[in-house]
Amino acid sequence: MDTTLIRVRVHDQLRALNLKHAEKNVDGLCEDAAQRQSGYTEFLSRVLDEELVRRLDQGTQMRLKLSHFPFQKTLEQFDFGFQPSLDQRQVEELATLSFVAEGRNVLFLGPPGVGKTHLAVALGMKACLAGYGVYYISGHELARRLVASLADDTLEKEFLALTRCKVLIIDEFGYLPFERQQATLMFQLIARRYERLATIVTTNKGFAQWGEVFGGDQAIASAILDRLLHHAAVINIRGASYRLKDHQHALGLAPEDPGRGQTKNGGSNIN
Ligand code: ADP
Ligand code: MG
Repeated sequence: MDTTLIRVRVHDQLRALNLKHAEKNVDGLCEDAAQRQSGYTEFLSRVLDEELVRRLDQGTQMRLKLSHFPFQKTLEQFDFGFQPSLDQRQVEELATLSFVAEGRNVLFLGPPGVGKTHLAVALGMKACLAGYGVYYISGHELARRLVASLADDTLEKEFLALTRCKVLIIDEFGYLPFERQQATLMFQLIARRYERLATIVTTNKGFAQWGEVFGGDQAIASAILDRLLHHAAVINIRGASYRLKDHQHALGLAPEDPGRGQTKNGGSNIN
C-alpha cells in the first residue's frame, strides 16, 4: 500500500480507538524513529506513551508540575545502544525505585551531553508516577536559594521544603564552584536528607575535583561526599555527547573516537 494511504489509515485507526494524543503526534514520532533507526518495540512504546502521559490521574499531573523538570523524558526514550559504557541493568534496577523507598542516593557522573539529566529526570518521572514527591533544581540555583533564605531568615522553611520531597534532583552539581557559605548550607541540606530521602545528583566533576568545587575546602568536600556516597549508586558515563552525534563529520570527529564528546563540547555552558 502507498505510504500516504497507510498514514491516513493509521490516523483513522488511532481516532477510532480514541487515542487522540497519539494521533496528534504519530507523524513526528514516525519521522523521528526513521531518523534514529529505532526498533519497532521502542517506537510502539513511544506512541503509547503519548497517550498514557496525558491520561495520568490528577495527583500525578500535579506532582509532575510541582517537580519543575526542565523537560519530560522517559527511560523508554533513552537509547542505551548509544552509550555502551552505561550498564542498562543498573539503570533498570534503579527504575524499580527501591532506592527511593530506602532513601539511597544516585550520582550520575560524566561529560556534557551523555544523558545525565535525561536519566535523572526519567527516574524522577518514574517516582512521580509511583506517587512520590520529586523536586528538580540545579546545583547553582539551589545554592543561591539557600544563601538568599539565610539572608532573609527563612532558611528553616527552605530546609523543610527541601526535605519534604522524597526525591531531590540536584542537576549540574559543582558546575560552578560553591563559595564557603554556599558549601556549608549545601552540607546541611545533604546531612538532613541523609539516609532518609533519596537525592539524585548529576555532575561533570570527578570526585578528585570536589575539593575545587567547594572552593578548596577539602574538609567540607569530604563531608558532603561521605554522606552522598554512602549506600549510593554511582553511574559513571564515559561515552560521547548525544547532542553532537549528528555533527560528528562537521566537527571532524571520527564516530569510533571515544573522547569525541568531551573534547569538543568542553567549553559549553550547558551540561
Ligand atoms: P547531560 O545532562 O549529560 O549534559 P542530557 O541528559 O541533557 O545530557 O542530554 C542531552 C540531550 O540529548 C537531551 O535532549 C537528551 O534527551 C538527549 N540524550 C542524551 N543521551 C541520549 C540517549 N542515549 N538516548 C536518547 N537521547 C539522549
Ligand atoms: Mg545536564
